[in-house]
Formats: sequence, structure tokens, C-alpha cells
Amino acid sequence: MTDSAPHIIVAGTGPAGLISALGLARAGFAVHLAGPAVGDTDRRTTALMLPALETLKGLGLAEAINTASAPLEAMRIVDATTRLIRSPVVTFRAREVGEPHFGLNIANRDLNAELETAVTAEKGITWHKSLVAQWSLSSEVAAAILADGTHLEGALAVAADGRTSPAREAAGIAVSTRSLPQSALVLCFSHSRPHGSISTEFHTETGPFTQVPLPGNRSSLVWVVEPAEATRLMTLSDEELSLSVEDRMQSMLGRVTVEPGRQVFPLTASTPRRFARNRVALVGEAAHNFPPIGAQGLNLGIRDARDLIDTALKFSGDPGSAEALGAYDSKRRPDILARSAAVNLLNRSLLSDLLPAQLARSAGLNVLGAVAPLRALFMREGLRPGSGLSSLFSDLREQIRR
Ligand SMILES: Cc1cc2nc3c(=O)[nH]c(=O)nc-3n(C[C@H](O)[C@H](O)[C@H](O)COP(=O)(O)OP(=O)(O)OC[C@H]3O[C@@H](n4cnc5c(N)ncnc54)[C@H](O)[C@@H]3O)c2cc1C
Repeated sequence: MTDSAPHIIVAGTGPAGLISALGLARAGFAVHLAGPAVGDTDRRTTALMLPALETLKGLGLAEAINTASAPLEAMRIVDATTRLIRSPVVTFRAREVGEPHFGLNIANRDLNAELETAVTAEKGITWHKSLVAQWSLSSEVAAAILADGTHLEGALAVAADGRTSPAREAAGIAVSTRSLPQSALVLCFSHSRPHGSISTEFHTETGPFTQVPLPGNRSSLVWVVEPAEATRLMTLSDEELSLSVEDRMQSMLGRVTVEPGRQVFPLTASTPRRFARNRVALVGEAAHNFPPIGAQGLNLGIRDARDLIDTALKFSGDPGSAEALGAYDSKRRPDILARSAAVNLLNRSLLSDLLPAQLARSAGLNVLGAVAPLRALFMREGLRPGSGLSSLFSDLREQIRR
């Protein structure tokens, strides 16, 4: 970092904010990070897919993540609805696309602790453990007044301040939000049979019930239900809940013992009209928020951080200029809109009683289950947006040449 390096304010100390701060500081910018110290109360886990792992490896975090996580070698989708039209079980195996695994599942507590250690050790970051109380944005500068009275100024403000993002609002970015009739119960559990590095997503009428491997005979669970059912599940004893989880999984992993510390997350879906404006760039849940299906949210957030760092480097003289923000918006728009639409559509098709929606979902899964090249395309797209299609086109080019 040089004395003349532009200053960047990063608001928010969730994973998207910490990763953005770290990457921007490593790229040579002087970063002011504003947000509370990292807590250890988050009971969720994150399945970090290969591209996200590559970004984190570039930030020197690979070893810590490898030790604390479990590989995801296969992902299985089971239609557990009681509807007229049901799909067959579809299994995606990483080896079908030449990868040892799709990614690694890590407890958010462990990931956040590693990020906090790295951010604290980074000389280019000044961490103000206070919330932004007020934003003042002009065409020249982004300024913030923190709750502890500190004044900050930067060429760019990164809104990593979560789904209700005050920085997004200050930038005048409109957002369409829908609250969903769903809540996610999250917990970790041990089981008597090995998971074999396979994640199973049961699709039910209220949303997915997703088991994801953790190291040893342990897994994490995201169970999406109606809010009243989430409240009921929270009142069950550990023994009663263990039986409910085992029952839902048809005893696939043998005897289940849930660990203390379950949590409920009410679900919403929101999409901003744009992803940067008025010296503010959105990353993480400030930029996209949708139900937890297919481990997309933070993976998308890490791609936001990666593209933001690349764009800031390209426009290093003034990373918050209208040109830089326009470039960031154009870069992120297709990925964010495509992922948000796909996840929201799948979620709606699960909740919908309409026959056409059930038919479409079932037909889609049927085709994916039966046609290996399509399944491979789907997996490549899931891992690296754009790569599935580009590999399809290169396969086609190869066939034409022959
Ligand atoms: C049940 C569930 C399971 C999930 N599972 C997965 C998964 O397997 N894989 C995956 O990729 N994604 C998953 N996600 C999504 C993922 O958890 C989120 O995308 C991710 O946590 C969002 O991180 P973030 O940093 O953007 O936001 P947050 O973690 O919400 O952080 C926002 C931060 O902003 C701070 N803040 C708020 N206001 C201010 C202010 N005024 N000033 C400064 N700071 C402020 C807050 O204190 C907080 O630190 C899941 C989500 C849910 C709900």
C-alpha cells in the first residue's frame, strides 16, 4: 500500500465484507472496515464451491479451510413431495466432470474466525468496530459517520451490510423484496452411518431439507418449513428433534443425534435494481438474497468480492468513479440475476400446487437424471457460471472439426 492509495470503506463484517476487505487491501488499497467484531453464534455451515475456494486460496486461507471442512463428492436430490407428479432421485457426482469434489463444507463459525484472524493481521485494513450511523454520498466522495463518532472518507464504499443494507438505501438503489412463507431451521447432527461425502437435498412441499457432510460422522442440516412449524421444531427436546430428523431422512444415515445450538432464519427474497451507484458497490446479501437451495448465496457473494477487487484494480485511480461502478454492475448483473431467478423459480415450483409447475420441475429433473452430458453441463454451470456453455460449444466445435 502506498500513501497515495485510494481509501475504500467496507461496511459490514459478515463473510462478504471480510473477504472484500482482505482482497482490496491485498490489492493495495487503504481499507477502512466498519462493523462489529465477529461473533461465534452462527450455526450455519457453508458449502464453498471450487471457484470460491480458489478465491479464498488466493487470499492465503486454503490450509485453514481444508483442515476444518469436509469434501462434497456427490449431491443427491430426492423428491420427497407427496404430489401426483414426482421426480426420480438425481445424483450429481463431481468425478463426472473430472473434479475430486464440488467443494468443501465448513461451519460459518470456523470460516468467520479464520477470516477475522486474517483481517486483523492485515496492515492495509483499519477495523472500526462500530456500525455506520450515517452515509453522505457525493459524486466526489463516499463519507460515513460511525456510531462511535468516527468520520470516514473513501473513493468507494462497499455495501456488505446484509439484506437490509443501509448503504444500499443511502445510495438510492431500489430493491424488490418478498417475504416468503418459509423459515430455515439449521443445526448440526451426528449419525451412526457414514455420509460417504454425499449431500442429500430432499425436496418437500414447504422447501428443501438439506443434509451436508461435515468431518467425521457429522452433517449439517438446513430444514425449510413454514414459520409455525419452525417454531414448533424449536420447542422439541434434542431427543424428539433427533427422531424427527432421522424420520425425514428415512434413517439413511442411521441413528441421528442433534447437537445443541439450533437456529431459525426467516426467509426473504430480494433483488436490487442495480449493483452499484453513487460511489457504493453492493456485495453479498446486500446484492442478492434468496432461499438456501443448492448452496448458492455466499458462493455468489465471493464472486461479487472477486469481481469488485478486479474492477477496483482496473480503475485503481478512482475505484468509485461512475465508469468503475458501471463496469462492476455490468460484470455482476448476469450472474446475480440468473442465480436469483433459478433459485426463486425452483423454490416456487416446490411450493406451488399447480400441475404445470410440478410437471416442469419433474421433467427437468427427469432429463438431468437420464442424460449424462446435460447433467455434466448443469454441474459445470453450477460450479463455474459460463463454463458449462463454453465447454458445450468447444465440444461442438471439436465435433464439427472432425
Ligand atoms: C439457512 C441458510 C443457509 C445457507 N447456506 C449457505 C450455503 O451452504 N452456501 C452458501 O453459499 N450460502 C449459504 N447461505 C447464504 C449465506 O449464509 C449468506 O449469503 C451470507 O451469510 C451472507 O453474508 P454477508 O456477509 O453478505 O451478510 P451478513 O452475514 O448478514 O453480514 C452483514 C454484516 O453487516 C453488518 N451491518 C449491518 N448494518 C451495518 C451498518 N450500518 N454498518 C456496518 N455494518 C453493518 C452486520 O453486523 C453484519 O456483520 C445460507 C443462508 C441461510 C439463511
